[in-house]
Amino acid sequence: MVISPTDRYTSRHAVETYGLDRWGNGYLDIGDDGRLLVTPGKDSSRSIDLLQVVQELGKRGYGTPALLRFPQLLEGQVRQLTRAFGRAIEEFEYGNAYRPVFPVKVNQARSVVEGLVAAGWNDGLGLEVGSRPELLTAIALNTPPESLILCNGFKDAEYISSAILAARLGKKVVVVIEKPFEIAQFLEVARGEEVLPMLGLRIRLQARGSGMWEKSGGFASKFGLSTLQVVEAMEALEAAGLQQQLALLHFHIGSQITEIRKIKKAVQEASRIYAKVRHQGVDIRYLDVGGGLGIDYDGSKTSSDASVNYGVQEYANDVVFGIKEVCEQEHVEMPTIVSESGRMLAAYHAVLVADVRAAVSGSSSTPLPMTGREPQVVQDLAEVARNITVKNYREFYHDAIDYRDQLFSLFNLGMLGLQDRAKGETLFREIAEKAVRYSKSAKFVADEFVELESELREKYICNFSVFQSIPDHWALDQLFPVMPIHRLNEAPTRRATLADITCDSDGEVEKFVDLKDIKDSLELHELREGEPYYLAFLLIGAYQDTMGDMHNLFGRAHEAEVMLDPQGKTVIRSVRRGDDARDTIQCYGYDEEELIGSAEAALRKRVNQGSMDRSEADSLLDDYRRRLRHYTYLDSPAARGGDAE
Ligand SMILES: *Cc1c(COP(=O)(O)O)cnc(C)c1O
Repeated sequence: MVISPTDRYTSRHAVETYGLDRWGNGYLDIGDDGRLLVTPGKDSSRSIDLLQVVQELGKRGYGTPALLRFPQLLEGQVRQLTRAFGRAIEEFEYGNAYRPVFPVKVNQARSVVEGLVAAGWNDGLGLEVGSRPELLTAIALNTPPESLILCNGFKDAEYISSAILAARLGKKVVVVIEKPFEIAQFLEVARGEEVLPMLGLRIRLQARGSGMWEKSGGFASKFGLSTLQVVEAMEALEAAGLQQQLALLHFHIGSQITEIRKIKKAVQEASRIYAKVRHQGVDIRYLDVGGGLGIDYDGSKTSSDASVNYGVQEYANDVVFGIKEVCEQEHVEMPTIVSESGRMLAAYHAVLVADVRAAVSGSSSTPLPMTGREPQVVQDLAEVARNITVKNYREFYHDAIDYRDQLFSLFNLGMLGLQDRAKGETLFREIAEKAVRYSKSAKFVADEFVELESELREKYICNFSVFQSIPDHWALDQLFPVMPIHRLNEAPTRRATLADITCDSDGEVEKFVDLKDIKDSLELHELREGEPYYLAFLLIGAYQDTMGDMHNLFGRAHEAEVMLDPQGKTVIRSVRRGDDARDTIQCYGYDEEELIGSAEAALRKRVNQGSMDRSEADSLLDDYRRRLRHYTYLDSPAARGGDAE
């Protein structure tokens, strides 16, 4: 779309500004009224209006931040994945089936796991677990009878015997051996057991992934068996008479593989190992290609960290074709293909909506008036501010830096008052802003001014915690799309970065997805007095909310599931209250009753001293008790009637 700068800004322009048509996988749209819409069926005539959902939750007493889950997006992803494999199997006349498996660590939330299992029921969607607690959860879930439970991760005797328990409960369990010692451990625990789980071997490939998680594969990987260890494992199993338990080969070269070439190479190598193992008379039935199917977070379709240079169908084609080709060459049966795609299935389904509390910038709308009697250094700055132009801005800005340094030296020596310092600072900022503006007229903008611009940038303070809701942004610089959920038919006249409400300078978002490159600020609207302004953090359904921590004791956000019913009406269900202060405090060794008890003791003392009367003490205690039950985040503009109790 070609947009002329004179066109009135409409929803179509907003699509261009934020790029949701590129990274939204068809699940997002913008209404003519400028509202962000979720379209579970990829059909804009049937949509969920996010602002309306936020307002409805607010009426029920649940303010922002709120994590909205869209189970129909989980369904959509399961369908996309299984259809892609279905099509590839048909096209290449592959001689076996495909089974999706969801790695629970990607998002352990019950509603997510159950949602995926329900959506993938007819495709026999199974679960992958990486720890004993995850296995115990998977055992309890109602999964389709044909589906697999794959046990990865480090295993002790407890973990293995839990897998045996699962097998006795009738689940199709595979214990995947990742380390040589696990074989001996398995043999020991399995001795005398009648029902045993199947076994798998995690192989360490030469082929590596690409992108941020590429070290999960390759020679030095933390996981998997070398070729020699695979041979030894087979020998050990044969010696124990348990060779027939061996049913699966598995590899995983990392998450968010950005280049399809890496996937092809890994599939080829693993298929070859599969064929060779079969040649040795082992009846391997499953080839598990692990996870790694990536998400195009920035919509650029490139191999940059925030993107992938392939689509789901291409991935399925390459996996299916790659395995078939090797099996034919090697004259072995084709295995059931298993993939452990987690990010792909879960990423789209969750959106965090947070309210913006304030915009902060260093500039002041009403500077102190100059009297002409200011100290020389302040007058010098005023002079620079008056005379700086597009021709002299570099030199004048450098002069201003000298004057500013003088200003602070004089202040530190006690020779300037507070008002004069304030005037000097304001003038310096004015000069810096002008310098940045003038620098843009040059063909080439010097680094100095690029940096200065980012220092001067406005910050929008958002009522959420990066550490709780998008921890990978903090830990790995991962980018997530962010955009307003309303006013999208109004030109965003501001460019700002975002700061969360933690007292941590890392609690900021200063990089944003962009088609080309990465944006260092986001297009936002001017805040209006008394009117809430909401931003959505999107594609955060994989690895984020369940990995978040409670920095500054900001806890889990309120959650709700949002669906479209068959009539196209929005249904909000399974609303879950976020943590209150008491919940997060208790995680760190405090006890609610004890806290209240000590507040009570302090109040009693004051009453006994006669400095407070009984009823006042009682009401203060009630007050304290009530505050412990408040949502940990700032009071939200959406929540009428206070916090949800
Ligand atoms: C984490 C993990 C996955 C999931 O990877 P995605 O990139 O999210 O698809 C799959 N398999 C194993 C063994 C894992 O550790």
